[in-house]
Amino acid sequence: KLTAAIIGSGVAGLASAIRLSAKGFDVHVFEKNSYPGGKLSEIQVGNYRFDAGPSLFTMPQYLEDTFTAAGLRLADYFLYVKHPTACHYFWDDGTFLPASGNLNEFAAKVEEILQVPKNRVIEYLENARFTYEKTGRIFLEKSLHKLGTWLTTETLKAIAHLPRYQITTTLHRVNEKWLEHPKLVQLFDRFATYNGSDPYQTPGIMHIIPHFEHNVGTFFPIGGMHAITQALYKAATDLGVKFHFNTQVDKIRWEGNVAKGVVTDGDFQPFDLIVSNMDVVPTYKYLLPDAPQPEKILSYPRSSSALIFYWGVKHQFSELDMHNIFFSNDYKAEFEHIFRKKTIYHDPTVYINITSRWNAGDAPEGCDNWFVMVNVPGNTGQNWDELLQQTRENVLSKLSKRLGTAIEPLIEAEATLDPRSIESKTFSYQGSLYGAGSNDMFSAFARHPNFSRKIRNLYFCGGSVHPGGGIPLCLLSARIVSDLIETP
Ligand code: FAD
Repeated sequence: KLTAAIIGSGVAGLASAIRLSAKGFDVHVFEKNSYPGGKLSEIQVGNYRFDAGPSLFTMPQYLEDTFTAAGLRLADYFLYVKHPTACHYFWDDGTFLPASGNLNEFAAKVEEILQVPKNRVIEYLENARFTYEKTGRIFLEKSLHKLGTWLTTETLKAIAHLPRYQITTTLHRVNEKWLEHPKLVQLFDRFATYNGSDPYQTPGIMHIIPHFEHNVGTFFPIGGMHAITQALYKAATDLGVKFHFNTQVDKIRWEGNVAKGVVTDGDFQPFDLIVSNMDVVPTYKYLLPDAPQPEKILSYPRSSSALIFYWGVKHQFSELDMHNIFFSNDYKAEFEHIFRKKTIYHDPTVYINITSRWNAGDAPEGCDNWFVMVNVPGNTGQNWDELLQQTRENVLSKLSKRLGTAIEPLIEAEATLDPRSIESKTFSYQGSLYGAGSNDMFSAFARHPNFSRKIRNLYFCGGSVHPGGGIPLCLLSARIVSDLIETP
């Protein structure tokens, strides 16, 4: 049997392991942590369980597809339900917009609360669907770095609609033109944060992102987001994949432009092929220091990172749902602070995710598990202890005012995560959530390929390479890697 080494057990590493094992490889996964999942893991704080990173599950078909490719049934490993509500939106002036997961109900609510005709929202999302259907299969599901991707009638047809994709303007401008009302523009600008970018800079084609949430829906895994990791890990184990936890890969060895194996704890282990699920920047810097470096790609600015407060709250607020957003009063200033000043705005947009009402056991009776997240810049040496303290005060004050109750006395369990700890836990360069940022066309679409151009039998998957970050795209990166590798 040919052997494959996978460096890292993030969602893309696990999905690659499943696909390569199903292809007939003897697969070994090396993971420096004692647990699988990378960013998609969980933590327990007192009597409260929290998903550590991702909280929004979209496009479950890519997970289905991972299992089907290996001849497995997703339902034997993992169950999920469609969540009826997309998000509850709050503004400081008292405006409250509960966004239904049903498109017509959402559009009707927008008309009722913001007086924007409901057809405006429906047409915007129809356009998002059009762009996704024309471009998604080509630009997300295939390697952009193979000529075959470009020489198809499907690609030529997609290119024929180029002006509709709004690549020469920014997402914010597209939203201003279509949606007019500043609050509705802010609501749709927020989708830029789904790949860690700035709506005032990221290309207008990012208007496809809300297609996932509003046309397809948001889903909730039974057991919480961490159940995705558990399902992938169990499937891989059932297929015979061998996991080596607490084992860091220190080098990828290559000779004569061919990858030969990995070095762990000073020992060389030969493999026929290697897939790195480690962030591409440290992969080159630490594991391949002598290899030719793709300098331009490695120097792209990173996506945003996050500051997270995991709060066990001994109260349930009826106005809160699973996903909740408390908007900043000055969105432009907030993004200028994140991407230009590299610090945190004093009035940040606050996201609260609660799973305890849908996943019994995540919090004690009558209490909720609040995952409170603020978008922040990557770690470039800021004074995070000070920023964390200031932001905690600002967030508590904003939420207490808007919810009409002092929040701090309700917190009975607490933990935090910041760009430094994201970086040390997962080796993501600067603690960025989605690899390179997508603030211009190059960094958005010219990501590192899923294979090495210089070293044969070396492949890359995960959020820092093509097609990008987030669970659905990470799963696609594993599919592309598997498609690039011939069945032995
Ligand atoms: P990672 O999760 O980055 O894992 C890489 C793994 O490799 C780690 O386990 C690491 O320990 C291991 N590793 C690295 N180097 C080595 C080495 N040399 N040797 C051995 N092991 C190594 N996405 C969504 O879809 N929805 C969301 O709501 C969402 N919210 C997010 C919120 C937060 C706070 C964060 C942090 C991320 C969020 N994301 C979200 C993004 C999503 O989590 C990531 O895109 C995805 O999980 C990344 O998976 P990955 O396969 O790239 O690997």
